[in-house]
Amino acid sequence: MDGTSPPDVDDVVSTKVQKAAAPLYVSRIKVHPKDVKGLYRRIKWAVLALCLAVYYLAPFLRWDRGPTAPDQAILIDLPGRKAYFFMIEIWPQEVYFLTGLLILAAITLFLVTSLFGRLWCGYACPQTVWTDLFMWVERKIEGDRNARIKLDAAPYSAEKIVKRTLKHTAWIGIALATGGAWILYFDDAPTVIRDVFTGNATFTQYFFIGLFAATTYTLAGWAREQVCTYMCPWPRFQGAMLDDQSYVVTYEEWRGEKRGKLAKAAPGVDPWAGRGDCVDCNSCVAVCPTGIDIRDGQQLECIGCGLCIDACDAVMDKVGRPRGLIRFDTLANQACRAKGEPVTHKFIRPRTLIYAGVLAFVGAVMLVALLSRATVELNVLRDRAPLFVTLSSGDIRNAYTIHVLNKTHEPREFALAVSGLQGAVLGVAGSDAAAAPVVTLAAKPDSVATYRVFVTVPAQSVRGKASSPVRFDLKPREGRGAADYDSVFLAPGR
Ligand code: SF4
Ligand code: SF4
Repeated sequence: MDGTSPPDVDDVVSTKVQKAAAPLYVSRIKVHPKDVKGLYRRIKWAVLALCLAVYYLAPFLRWDRGPTAPDQAILIDLPGRKAYFFMIEIWPQEVYFLTGLLILAAITLFLVTSLFGRLWCGYACPQTVWTDLFMWVERKIEGDRNARIKLDAAPYSAEKIVKRTLKHTAWIGIALATGGAWILYFDDAPTVIRDVFTGNATFTQYFFIGLFAATTYTLAGWAREQVCTYMCPWPRFQGAMLDDQSYVVTYEEWRGEKRGKLAKAAPGVDPWAGRGDCVDCNSCVAVCPTGIDIRDGQQLECIGCGLCIDACDAVMDKVGRPRGLIRFDTLANQACRAKGEPVTHKFIRPRTLIYAGVLAFVGAVMLVALLSRATVELNVLRDRAPLFVTLSSGDIRNAYTIHVLNKTHEPREFALAVSGLQGAVLGVAGSDAAAAPVVTLAAKPDSVATYRVFVTVPAQSVRGKASSPVRFDLKPREGRGAADYDSVFLAPGR
């Protein structure tokens, strides 16, 4: 069809049919995953228990930092503008540590994905962990898959109302505990708990408990697999980390097809002759938390949880066929198995080497930065108005605001001097001490001490120079750690 001729009727009809067949919005088909037992289910329970234990209990771990710093091992102290992670303390000036940690986490995820597929999604992602927990509660109260389907379809009765009320009450309880645990990371955990239960917590604390409870209840209770399928960006680009040597959940099509129900064979006839091992029982679909059929091949919705493996292995045991019709395997190995060739395991590949190399490099940089972390820092801000003052003696004076960051847990005293200016003396605002080449500045533990310091030089030292470089040197009176800061000293320039 050219641009001027009328559209062909068949084209119009076929376009209309396509539009009708593929609506932009598809209603959710509720998934009712069946309970399953097996190796991967046990691993999932173990990971779930570990993740929940870490999340709920970590704020109660203590770490002695002396009397001047909080003793909570993991703490984000927003009013104090510091983050604590056991022996590591991060000040606002060191936010690059957090950036480094995020980079490390991302590269680790890339590496794990390229080796073992979506392990994170299937086992440790908070959405998976909490959805599994909510499903477990649902199963305990409403029963397994068939009972839940029946209950969903049934009209409201006393039994249905009681079960639904119990389920949602339990869900809300877990959601509140989740939101409640979140705020424990931002203040002393035992104090927060006491305040929350006695009504003495702040509005912000109650607000965030409510916000995280609502999010947990909605995402884990209602949205579930839709978060993974529609909301999470990770499935969209994790394909870039996978290749045919990555371990993913695979269906052995070459062995399973031609599928079909297992019919009773006549005596002496092999019931498996001319057919595949898949008995089309749908067990793998029934247990899938995202409601897909792994026999259709690799799909974006598959979170790699491996529950379909457990379900199928149980069926294979029952019908007397070898396990592993669905298994964690590489696509390359599946191609070999289909041809009867030996399989190989290639963990070392260009992409895994690159990810491991980047991981090692970033990790090493972080480690060096952490080990060589300064315990004292100096920041200097020169006054802009006035730029300088000419004293009655003819000397020139500039004023500076000095910030001394004492990152240790002890009070410290420092000697501050300047270099680069002949005959310079320093004076501290509010101090009775006479101006001198070296002044003493004190800083409390874990704090920033702020001083206003005047630097005065004889006029002849800066004659003809409107701007002279000056270096501030800060040295502790005792112990290790020193800092310096380059600034300028302004003068009339005549
Ligand atoms: S297809 Fe299997 S591995 Fe993928 S999400 Fe479903 S049960 Fe989990
Ligand atoms: S569980 Fe195994 S046998 Fe049953 S339908 Fe799935 S692949 Fe086929």
